[in-house]
Amino acid sequence: MIDIPSFVLALGVGNIAFAVLMAGYTHGAAPSPGLRLWMWARFGIGLCQLLGWSRPYLDMPALNGVEGASWILAISLEVAAYCIFFGFERWQRVLVPVSALALAVVLAAGSAGAPVPYLTALVAGVVALFAAAMASILLRPRRRASLLQRIIGVNDAVFAVSVVVWAVGCLDSEGPPGQCTAQEYAYMAGYLLMIVNGFGFLLLCKEKDDAEMARLATTDSLTGLPNRHAFLERAEHARQAALRQRQPLALAMMDIDHFKQINDRFGHATGDEALVVFARTLRETLRAHETVGRLGGEEFAMVLPGTDLSGAVQAAERLRQAVREAMVITSVTPYTMTVSIGVVVLDPNETLGMGLARADHALYAAKSGGRDRVEVGRPQQQRA
Ligand code: GH3
Ligand code: MG
Ligand code: MG
Repeated sequence: MIDIPSFVLALGVGNIAFAVLMAGYTHGAAPSPGLRLWMWARFGIGLCQLLGWSRPYLDMPALNGVEGASWILAISLEVAAYCIFFGFERWQRVLVPVSALALAVVLAAGSAGAPVPYLTALVAGVVALFAAAMASILLRPRRRASLLQRIIGVNDAVFAVSVVVWAVGCLDSEGPPGQCTAQEYAYMAGYLLMIVNGFGFLLLCKEKDDAEMARLATTDSLTGLPNRHAFLERAEHARQAALRQRQPLALAMMDIDHFKQINDRFGHATGDEALVVFARTLRETLRAHETVGRLGGEEFAMVLPGTDLSGAVQAAERLRQAVREAMVITSVTPYTMTVSIGVVVLDPNETLGMGLARADHALYAAKSGGRDRVEVGRPQQQRA
């Protein structure tokens, strides 16, 4: 048997403590979208719980409607925080009218002196609906939800079901809602909601920030391709997989020809645009399992798993041709680039660095051979 009044008091204090903590965290910082709104939602829910706890002492029937309306406002804020966090603008368009309607109905029922069990059932029904909305945001099958999102979503769903059961129980009972098992379950679910959603939302923000940090650390900001570090890491993975599967692995180094001229003739911004066009051409020309990266400046590299030398030369030629056909829009006339490419197939006892050095050597040969061409690196034995 739970001592419901003390339990509600503890929930109220807990939620307000969460909100205060968040106020300190978000103060002067640039928090994840939705976090500030979520803080106000926690604060509102805490206030509702404190209001509910104080009601037997206050004995003011007018507060029935106010408490119900506050619950709807607070839970709407929480759903809005999730909508903003996940970027569901259309949900916000639905949420505002639904919340306004629910508010109007609850306030009207409260001021018309609706019996407390009906009012409680009405508010509980709306709260359950909003909790179900949060669960469906988090558990939507089309989104690739993380395990964390699924845990919070299941918790929201459990809360919604337990509140519905309690609401139905309120409708069945006569007179003021007394303590019953359904109410105890609903409050227990409310406690879980405070803990799981409280920490959960913070962890969701952290999960999102971590993913963004990882993306920034591994992506070249201009072209969106993997940067040097990320490319080398992926290439090493590909090398080890090729060794395990006894499959060939081709490497290519690429360098845009006379790139300095583009900057000198059309300006640095056009040079940047040329790099973006080049990267797009690479992405469009390569297959899904082939990795490409920007090593720096106008130098790029690619890894072609399961590709022998003739396949790699074909891929490089296809790419060279695609680059010739790609247009860079400039302030004067459209400009077409050319690229020089050095290709090798990695020897099983060669490191990635050694393979890339051979490809670079082949690239140098392509440059000195007149540019806009593909050169094959000599096998390792012949160079030793
Ligand atoms: P080559 O055919 O021998 O490769 O000649 P190149 O002019 O392409 O080579 P070089 O190494 O002389 O010049 C590369 C230029 O690329 C110099 C540098 O200013 C420019 N560059 C490097 N990174 C960027 C960038 O991010 N944006 C722009 N616009 N230019 C860049
Ligand atoms: Mg160059
Ligand atoms: Mg260069």
